[in-house]
Amino acid sequence: MSPASVLRVALPTPVRRLFDYRPATHQAGGTPMVGTRVRVPFGQRRVIGVIMGTAERAEVPEEKLRAILEGLDEQPIFDPALLALLHWAAGYYHHPIGEVVASALPTALRNGASALTCVQRWRITAAGEHAYARGEPARAPRQRGVLEELRAAPRAAHELSARLGPSWRAATRLLSARGWIESGQDLAPTLPAVAAAPQPGPPLNDEQHAAVERIRLASGGFGTFVLQGITGSGKTEVYLQVAQHALAAGRSALVLVPEIGLTPQLLERFRERLGAPMAVMHSGLTEHERLLAWRDAFSGRARVVIGTRSAVFAPASNLGVIIVDEEHDASYKQHDGGFRYSARDLAVMRARGAAVPIVLGSATPALETLHNLDSGRYTRLRLTRRATRAEPPRLTLIDLRAHAQSGGLSTPVVQAMATHLAAHAQVLVFLNRRGYAPTLLCTACGWIAPCANCDARLTVHLGARMLRCHHCGAEASLPERCPQCGFAVKPVGQGTERIEETLTRLFPGIECVRLDRDVIRRPGELERAMHRIASGAGRIVVGTQMVTKGHDFRDVTLVVVLNADQGLFSADFRAAERLAQTIVQVAGRSGRGERPGEVLLQTEFPGHPLLTSLLAEGYEGFARTALAERRQAAWPPFSRLAAVRASAPAAEPALAFLSEARALAGAAREVRLLGPVPAAMARRAGRHHAQLLIESRTRAGLHLFLDAWLARIQSLPSARRVRWTLDVDPIELF
Ligand code: ADP
Ligand code: ZN
Ligand code: ZN
Repeated sequence: MSPASVLRVALPTPVRRLFDYRPATHQAGGTPMVGTRVRVPFGQRRVIGVIMGTAERAEVPEEKLRAILEGLDEQPIFDPALLALLHWAAGYYHHPIGEVVASALPTALRNGASALTCVQRWRITAAGEHAYARGEPARAPRQRGVLEELRAAPRAAHELSARLGPSWRAATRLLSARGWIESGQDLAPTLPAVAAAPQPGPPLNDEQHAAVERIRLASGGFGTFVLQGITGSGKTEVYLQVAQHALAAGRSALVLVPEIGLTPQLLERFRERLGAPMAVMHSGLTEHERLLAWRDAFSGRARVVIGTRSAVFAPASNLGVIIVDEEHDASYKQHDGGFRYSARDLAVMRARGAAVPIVLGSATPALETLHNLDSGRYTRLRLTRRATRAEPPRLTLIDLRAHAQSGGLSTPVVQAMATHLAAHAQVLVFLNRRGYAPTLLCTACGWIAPCANCDARLTVHLGARMLRCHHCGAEASLPERCPQCGFAVKPVGQGTERIEETLTRLFPGIECVRLDRDVIRRPGELERAMHRIASGAGRIVVGTQMVTKGHDFRDVTLVVVLNADQGLFSADFRAAERLAQTIVQVAGRSGRGERPGEVLLQTEFPGHPLLTSLLAEGYEGFARTALAERRQAAWPPFSRLAAVRASAPAAEPALAFLSEARALAGAAREVRLLGPVPAAMARRAGRHHAQLLIESRTRAGLHLFLDAWLARIQSLPSARRVRWTLDVDPIELF
């Protein structure tokens, strides 16, 4: 066989390899190129895959090699750099290549939709022109009408219907049978080639200017820049200018934002300021919208691609720069499904492959990122001042043991709120728990409303008169009486819904706006809430994680963190980092306008070293302490971790599988195995969960071990009784 006579195809199956095919014997246009989609026979089925490479020799015997059925693309839909990234990701996350490739494509493309935006248009042929000139067809006014239309311009079906009414269809059929008209595919741009003229931004301050220059000078090659600056220090202005430089050089920009950060305001800011066609990709799109956004990026019509996690795979053409906003955000890591990638880490690899700079922005960089700065792999760019005049907010701990509290609010907090509200400022109250109360309790017999599927309590949602499980989504209507003894039941503890009720009672006449997933479930509600806040009508904002990011609440001068203690004593070694990040982020909402801000943290543990280091030395002081602890305990970034998680309807099979997997590792020298242990919440959504951790001093050691070990545990008989996944670089442990 001649070279490249075997095509190596990624197919959407959980099998961890590529499949070999012969080119079709009668393929029009020659052998399909690497990076294009092909339809192939696979067992009894026909499936669509992507050609990832070629080989001289097949891995299966010649006579078993089947031919592809057809090629679907004339041009590759993945450029070589993106293909290399997919190969790398499959290796690094030890995930089947076919599933990796599939997750990089919108469903419609996986199912064979065209990669190009095409419309079918009718046009007149030369023969048709002659016929028309001769006055034919003389006795068919409808057909003449169609010819007349098409002489002016090719027309799509809907245009012909609009102009000629329903009779056009029969007429075109007759005309095309005579060869006087024909139909063909035309590219149809969905984005204007140029958007509005870019709006100028504010003149940059010295630090912003230095950051932009530094990145611009690096634009000839790969480099990772960490743009570290508190909220409001002007990071987004730096992104905008960096993107602008890429556009001016005729290249495109890829911007990743956290799930929660992709607000209409942010999109508007990018749109207005860059004045460039933009493709937006996020999880809220319909399949069709996803396809259109992908095509806009692929065709190069979109010069800016902005999106959440999976946009890291967007086919941005002629990439000039990658920007990752809030790089520490947990939503960059895919949490569920099989392919658990980190979009931030893949973005760095993508930038490397494309030889372009990447900017990782955050007020609170991940400890991994700080470690990469310490070791010199990344370059730090600091913004130390707020772009506007306000001073950074002052943080104070409120000792919950020393103060009376009612409804979750301590006396000093209520007093401070009254003072700030009297000064016509806005107050933000943060509690990371939605619903009315986390528990429904019977005070007579001690019954607590449990979830039938989880080791968890049901949360009270009073407004909806429902009990809901925040882990599996189970719902029940809110009982009036205890199902066990018949006494009255009462909600215990605080959720955002209840805090809103309490604040409305404490501060009558002052509008309170709630921001959490329950509120924004109804379409238009998020916009409405944001508008109440931005207009200043809503004076108190109560919310979950949702209030910590992205929004510019100008008049907020007081931020209250109702419970700073979640995360202080977690089994997860990352919990402290997440808590510190949340506190700093939410504190950043305060004092963004002209007035200085104040932040109050309610805690039962005011002497906890994490809180005191955070207060005394800020996030970086905290990070130093936390990194020293991680080094001591040999946790990442001072080691490499992978987690194997298994679940089954009963507890035994999950633990049995993981124990056998552990036994197969024998006395592997390059790794340490920890577990298996049941999850902290062992039963979730009706399944029992357990976990085995694999830790290694080095990345190479971990991957060497995983390569050999995974192949063996896959064929364990006990593997068939469970669902299991591998999570490389897990960010949540249980
Ligand atoms: P970050 O992204 O760090 O939170 P932004 O870029 O959103 O900060 O800036 C915060 C606010 O300050 C915005 O309203 C922005 O328009 C304004 N701003 C940023 N840089 C400047 C500057 N150099 N001069 C004046 N205003 C600025
Ligand atoms: Zn009871
Ligand atoms: Zn549940």
